[in-house]
Amino acid sequence: MRERETVAPEGMSESEQRQFMDVALAESRHALPDCSPNPPVGCVIVQGRDVVSRGYTGAPGRPHAEAAALLALDPNMDPAGLSLFVTLEPCAFVGRTPSCAQAIVGAGIRRVFVGTLDPDPRNDGAGIAIMRAAGIEVRVGVAEPEVLAFLAAHLSTTPRS
Ligand SMILES: [Zn+2]
Repeated sequence: MRERETVAPEGMSESEQRQFMDVALAESRHALPDCSPNPPVGCVIVQGRDVVSRGYTGAPGRPHAEAAALLALDPNMDPAGLSLFVTLEPCAFVGRTPSCAQAIVGAGIRRVFVGTLDPDPRNDGAGIAIMRAAGIEVRVGVAEPEVLAFLAAHLSTTPRS
């Protein structure tokens, strides 16, 4: 399955990737209960080995985790030097909020690490495909067991908002 191909992002070890996903996972716990019925997602943006921005999914109609982290980012930072970690596949679709996959492309981020794919049929790999088509290096499945232990109960194959 192409979405799960492992890429080797320069300079960041597997254990470092898991550590940053753990920070994103901790951030995602702040999303409950306001985010419902959307899943509680967390995101951190990393420059070198430093977390430079973080976000979690707000109430419906408010920014998703990725959009929140991008909004909180210092606009003077070079996006090409940043890595984004998000617990769930960024959304490919426009609902009450814009597509996060498109927002990540638009921000100029070049490396993205995803905890697990979103089974929502409007996504289900489509968010990954948007980013890869734009030349972003995407790795799926970082700390996936830990992410799913918290997130799985909130995921659905039924479209949400
Ligand atoms: Zn989104």
